[in-house]
Amino acid sequence: AMKKDDLRYFLHPTSSIVDMESWGGPKIIEEGCGIRLKSIEGKTIIDCGAGLWLNNVGLGRTELAEAAKQQMEKLSYFQTFNGYSHPLVIETAKKVAGMIPMDNPRIFFTSGGSESNDTAYKLARMYWYLQGKPNKHHIIARTKAYHGVSYGAVSATSLPGFWDGFRPLVPAFHHIEHPHCYFCPWGKEQDQCNLECAEALEEKIIELGKENVAAFTAEPIIGTGGAIVPPDGYYQRIHEICDKYDVLFIADEVITGFGRTGKMFGMLHYGVQADIMMMAKGITSGYIPMGAVGISERVFTPIKSHGIFMHGYTYSGHPVACAVALKNIEIVERENLAENARVVGEQLRSRIRDLSLPCIGEVRGIGLINGVQLVQDDAARIKFGPEIGFAKRVSAIAWENGLALRPLMDDGLQLSPALVITETDVIELVDKLGRSIKQAYDEFLG
Ligand code: PLP
Repeated sequence: AMKKDDLRYFLHPTSSIVDMESWGGPKIIEEGCGIRLKSIEGKTIIDCGAGLWLNNVGLGRTELAEAAKQQMEKLSYFQTFNGYSHPLVIETAKKVAGMIPMDNPRIFFTSGGSESNDTAYKLARMYWYLQGKPNKHHIIARTKAYHGVSYGAVSATSLPGFWDGFRPLVPAFHHIEHPHCYFCPWGKEQDQCNLECAEALEEKIIELGKENVAAFTAEPIIGTGGAIVPPDGYYQRIHEICDKYDVLFIADEVITGFGRTGKMFGMLHYGVQADIMMMAKGITSGYIPMGAVGISERVFTPIKSHGIFMHGYTYSGHPVACAVALKNIEIVERENLAENARVVGEQLRSRIRDLSLPCIGEVRGIGLINGVQLVQDDAARIKFGPEIGFAKRVSAIAWENGLALRPLMDDGLQLSPALVITETDVIELVDKLGRSIKQAYDEFLG
């Protein structure tokens, strides 16, 4: 009955209605603890994705429930508009400001990643506008980027399907090719590479005219587009180009923030500071919706002179979200979860490589943001293709084997469990994953 009611009443985000109908309804989860879920049928399942790349501290933490409860009882809500504030939003802003790789930042709060992205683009445009350069408003993003679905964020996104039926998008968003050595768009091998993927930014800025370009935005490590790690030197070169043409660099750390990559923030791997930084997801581990934007002194200065940032969400700096964020960050730090992500991430990738299945190509990632590339031929880098739906088939079999495993586009699999995962869990996960991939491959070979 629950499944029927779901089909009858609920419009799901980004879910195939045809698939859900063919299954007789969605897969319903009713409980969770650590990295494990329980379905309404009573089945235990390992969540390979930490929800949508977000649950860093694991499910079922009573400390977080307690923090939310106490704050709801004390002050469930008050606005941060109109000159009001409250103790926890101040504490959270101070905490986040002290953590992010940015000198002397200000923090703006949102309810999630799309809002953080829209806020960042508005800040970038306003920054130039306030300096008498209203034409410097073009924003460059990358193919395979996922920045969310609000109109600004979806205009920066570049994944199949997200634009269909929604045009016109916000004007003046552009895309350059994303870096991915395994499938290098320039057909280069690493030893002959001249970082064409970074040079593409310079070409695009010249094409648009530097007097027209406000900002370049990127996920430090591409998430939804496939868990793709850029080559060495990429961000250093990107940063040089941004400096040369006076273009802001905006880092979307919605997935990579708060420990997932093995360091607290993704850009810490590259030694490059962003002018504006977006956060969400891991800031509360998804226990409550929240996002944030880090704003460098450079970007804040003209806004301060101007006197007001005419932008905000009802839930900007929500007291309960702040209470949860503070407690969540405390757990991430206390339990050294970034370090655990680094160590266990390496174990995960090496055990998947050790499966030595011919249909496993690149096993990529850093910390616990990982992708497994399924291929018909690793040497020639030939994918299965959408007609075959191989990753989708693997994911269906994996569900039967006790894994919630998301197929990514282009035959990728997402492996981004909660950062509390242990080596023992990894052994179980990889065993189930290996059996699922093998079964799908045997079926494919017939
Ligand atoms: N940016 C990145 C890198 C994301 O991965 C996501 C969500 O997956 C978003 C932005 C959008 O966040 P939200 O769904 O909270 O609006």
